[in-house]
Amino acid sequence: MGSTVHDAIVVGGGLVGSAVALGLADAGRSVALLDEGDVALRASRGNFGLVWVQGKGLPLDGYAAWTRRSSDLWPAFAERLAGETGRDIAYQRQGGFHLCLSEAELEARALLIKRLHNQAGPDGYDCRVLDRDEVRQSLPGIGDAVVGGTFCPHDGCVNPLALLQALHSAGQEQGIAYLPGRRVDRIDCAGASFSVRSGAEVYSASTLVLAAGLANRPLGAWVGLDVPVTPERGQVLVTERAQPWLDVPTTYVRQMAEGTVLLGDSHEDVGFDTGTTVAVTEDIAARALRTFPALAHLRVVRTWGALRVMTPDGCPVYDASERHPGAFAISCHSGVTLAAAHASVLAPAIADGSFRNAFAAFTGQRFDVSAH
Ligand SMILES: Cc1cc2nc3c(=O)[nH]c(=O)nc-3n(C[C@H](O)[C@H](O)[C@H](O)COP(=O)(O)OP(=O)(O)OC[C@H]3O[C@@H](n4cnc5c(N)ncnc54)[C@H](O)[C@@H]3O)c2cc1C
Repeated sequence: MGSTVHDAIVVGGGLVGSAVALGLADAGRSVALLDEGDVALRASRGNFGLVWVQGKGLPLDGYAAWTRRSSDLWPAFAERLAGETGRDIAYQRQGGFHLCLSEAELEARALLIKRLHNQAGPDGYDCRVLDRDEVRQSLPGIGDAVVGGTFCPHDGCVNPLALLQALHSAGQEQGIAYLPGRRVDRIDCAGASFSVRSGAEVYSASTLVLAAGLANRPLGAWVGLDVPVTPERGQVLVTERAQPWLDVPTTYVRQMAEGTVLLGDSHEDVGFDTGTTVAVTEDIAARALRTFPALAHLRVVRTWGALRVMTPDGCPVYDASERHPGAFAISCHSGVTLAAAHASVLAPAIADGSFRNAFAAFTGQRFDVSAH
């Protein structure tokens, strides 16, 4: 049986764990990043790659500002990753649109944005509601069905697979021991030390960060944390490559730097099923076609389903174990958007002991009715 000691162990090498591990290494910690591997289509490998601000925030005070903070950290973060790894992660922040296909949709969207403005107070919530003509000035290819939409200048996008690879590469440059193929099946807590087992191997550290996506729920139980995450499937379609025609991302249609077009944004409660269905992919394609009729000339070359790491209110759950100090669980459903803040703000707070105060609003105890 092999045994290795580090300052910190991060369980889960998806977007969340890799970003947190990088931040811990930046803070001078020796880090082991244990990952089960791509045995199912994880959120980090099946997402849409939006670095997205608009529409997020309402259920939880502080979430809109946290998202915006990450969005503001992203340009420097992307530059850092590109500089350290030589990888092009195709990050852009040229703003983004949410497009509406009926007056009812537009009204509901405008109401949401108004409520976000009210929640933000004097800080403001930088997102505008646009009529059809205003949308058309930026997106001349919209179809007749588009009645308007919203635009946020802080939105952007990235190539999510390139981002994941860049996080791994940058982490390894920083000395992180990235250990794929390690499924953590047991955690023992003894005093100020955690022993994490993967088969016959044991890894020990005084800091343990659970960032295993949907597996945070069963893993959290080992360290006294009740992590309320459930799967929510999203299906995505990708077309063949096309000449550049959509240089600004929208919520459910975006063109990647290499020319393919992603179509998506379905939400289904189907347990852990990562399959695809004709009914949902047809709906996604139909809506995309009504939005951008020129898509009719492109062939869809692949579809996939991936599971969001969903919390009860859709906002992040960040927790520190009271029973076992030194253990943390980080779960969220916007791991692309929040990657910059996870590496640059959240991880340093774990390292310097300020996490509990800094992230009190994000604890899962907010769902505990007996606590209110
Ligand atoms: C269809 C879709 C579209 C999305 N679009 C966007 C978007 O546009 N913008 C955005 O910000 N977010 C988006 N998301 C959400 C984003 O992808 C997730 O928030 C993020 O990927 C979650 O990352 P994670 O690392 O927490 O989880 P995961 O990606 O699930 O990764 C968890 C990792 O933990 C590992 N693991 C699991 N169990 C164990 C174990 N026992 N031992 C060791 N390792 C383990 C797994 O191997 C995996 O690598 C989207 C998600 C989906 C599904």
